[in-house]
Amino acid sequence: MGERERVFSGARPTGRQHLGNYLGAIQNYVALQDHYDCVYCAVDLHALTTMEDTERLRENTAEMVLDWLAAGIRPEESIVFVQSHVPELPLLHTILSMVTPLGKLTDLPTFKEKVRLQPHNVNYGLVGYPVLMTADIVLYKARYVPVGLDQAPHLEFAREVVRTFNHRVGREVLIEPEMKVTEVPKVLGTDGQQKMSKSLDNHIELAATPEETLKKVMTMVTDPARIRRSDPGNPDVCNVFSMHKIFSSGDDVGMVNVECRRAGIGCVECKQLFARNLNRHLEPFRRRRGEFEQTPNVVWDVLSDGAKRAREIAAATMADVRDAVGLP
Ligand code: SF4
Repeated sequence: MGERERVFSGARPTGRQHLGNYLGAIQNYVALQDHYDCVYCAVDLHALTTMEDTERLRENTAEMVLDWLAAGIRPEESIVFVQSHVPELPLLHTILSMVTPLGKLTDLPTFKEKVRLQPHNVNYGLVGYPVLMTADIVLYKARYVPVGLDQAPHLEFAREVVRTFNHRVGREVLIEPEMKVTEVPKVLGTDGQQKMSKSLDNHIELAATPEETLKKVMTMVTDPARIRRSDPGNPDVCNVFSMHKIFSSGDDVGMVNVECRRAGIGCVECKQLFARNLNRHLEPFRRRRGEFEQTPNVVWDVLSDGAKRAREIAAATMADVRDAVGLP
């Protein structure tokens, strides 16, 4: 893997990925491979903190990783693995939890938000979530973590834990990770209001068929002031137009921008055009996904090899940590 600096990122195994995941993370994962040594993890343990029904966890992991591979993540270069396949992680989590004040964890806005969302399931793991996240990053000696600006406080927390740990043991055992801020467009769901998300069912799956995609696109909310076909629209407040800007050619974007404003194009036609362009964009992804699906066990082979490589790094880190802490 050479001299390249390492990047770590984890994603909850949420099953088939959607456009929001693609634009917000996966595209960036793929691009980072050209410059960094990348470690990408399906964080199944994190999923357990908020999940009560784990029946589909295995399948959701496989579907997500299949999407990663189809999108261009190269497992022969990058390490792609499942969080719980590395048994060194819970040990590091426990050790780091000893240097983390409880009050800091319960004061975090993200913890308070989780308590609000699931008051019936405020479990111990939920409180320690940021410590587990810190362990994820530092176990693999990652220098950078790609994050959106909204996640900056999480990484700042991880940096603090690392500083405290290194200070306690009196040497730089763990690497203090840095943010790799990535500009990602805010991807709204088909409702045009909220962030695209599977749980809100306002998402468009990458692996959907062209017909399914068209159907979803047709449900997209447009400029709310444009009621009749003859009303001029305002693309600046329309989510379909925002998506055109990402997936359509400059000519199509220019045409919609002009014609919408003078009612020269109707929303149905405009959405059909967008669905066509989106399907064209996703065609190579879908073809590759189909090819991977033909190879039995491809995802689990990738994950098993990834876990092996991840464990090698983890073992080296833990040898240093055990020694620094003085564990017998
Ligand atoms: S024509 Fe297109 S850009 Fe204009 S409001 Fe309808 S869907 Fe939106």
